[in-house]
Amino acid sequence: MHNNILDDIKTRYSIMDICNRLNIKVKNKIARCVCPENHNNNDKKPSMGIDAINNRFKCFACGISGDIIELVKYSKNISFKEAVEWILGYNPYKNNNNEKTPERSRREDYISNMYNEPKEENKKINKVDNVKRFDVEPVNDINDTQDNKKNIYKDFLRLLIPAFEAKTALEYFEKRAINIDILSTYPVYFLEKESKSIIKSLKAKYNDDELIKSGILEWSTKTNSSYLFCYNHPIVFPFYIGEDIVYYQVRRLDDEVPKYKQIKRPIQVQYNWNIVEYGDKGDTIFITEGISDCLSLASLGYNNVIAVLGVNNFKDIWIKSLLKYNIVLAFDADTAGEQATKKIAMKFLEYGNIVKTIDKSNWSKINVKDINEYLINNKG
Ligand SMILES: [Zn+2]
Repeated sequence: MHNNILDDIKTRYSIMDICNRLNIKVKNKIARCVCPENHNNNDKKPSMGIDAINNRFKCFACGISGDIIELVKYSKNISFKEAVEWILGYNPYKNNNNEKTPERSRREDYISNMYNEPKEENKKINKVDNVKRFDVEPVNDINDTQDNKKNIYKDFLRLLIPAFEAKTALEYFEKRAINIDILSTYPVYFLEKESKSIIKSLKAKYNDDELIKSGILEWSTKTNSSYLFCYNHPIVFPFYIGEDIVYYQVRRLDDEVPKYKQIKRPIQVQYNWNIVEYGDKGDTIFITEGISDCLSLASLGYNNVIAVLGVNNFKDIWIKSLLKYNIVLAFDADTAGEQATKKIAMKFLEYGNIVKTIDKSNWSKINVKDINEYLINNKG
């Protein structure tokens, strides 16, 4: 089968739908492994991460991973070809003869159409590319631009790999005492490809102006050319609202400055905000100062952690969405952290809500000022 067709199948069918069809229950992006024989206890405590953005899965206990075809292959214990056919809707169990049923003809037409489609699209993209320099920016097309930005962010993420699949990223987090099991529940990605190839893929679909406006590319006046905003910062943290990605923060592997970089656009939500979007009334939600502390608190076994990027970036408009929860502030044990804790607690109090803070009473004794230091201190 032609590679284009396979690539198309791998992206056209969402892994969530495939899981549904396979009767795999996914909760918080985690499911029981499809190879229970690899596990003691049939993987009772689920360890297979489902990555709906990249349409991939990975079991972080036994290590099997792959795309939707692999998932079907493993879970039904069938061949690659049978898995492809199963996804497309053939029933390899019932129809073992080669009889050309109407359904089969329809599927075959469908496959040949899939083969033609990308070519047509490429033509269109080239046309747009040729005229872009002479286009005048539309003035009141704000929604279009927003949608476009979302698409660019999504396409950018597809070019990365989940951190739990990247050796370098795993080493980075292990060095910082982060429990790597949590990387399949918290959105963390890794830039493995060269930025050149990332830029090339994005430019096949978007023009320079769109990419620069989105913040994914930045403009260098020195070289008079654009570059990938995170080329030195390969650890990538996407910020979601529902399925949409609205923002990125990125981090270097070493401790050169700036350690972190952000998309140069206004920030709408905190990191891991979807637990605020989809949580139940009365849930406890922890707010940390930065993503490193967020992952550290999660590593210590706390669920439902979100992160504000610096205490001074806490926005009052977020409070209304947080009121139905039991909020615990987990900021640093320094002056800025203490002041922000007081200030934000007072704002919640205006709505009649009393926020809690984590217990930092023994931090000064063990010379610890934030959660990551506490975690490292606790581990060894
Ligand atoms: Zn497994």
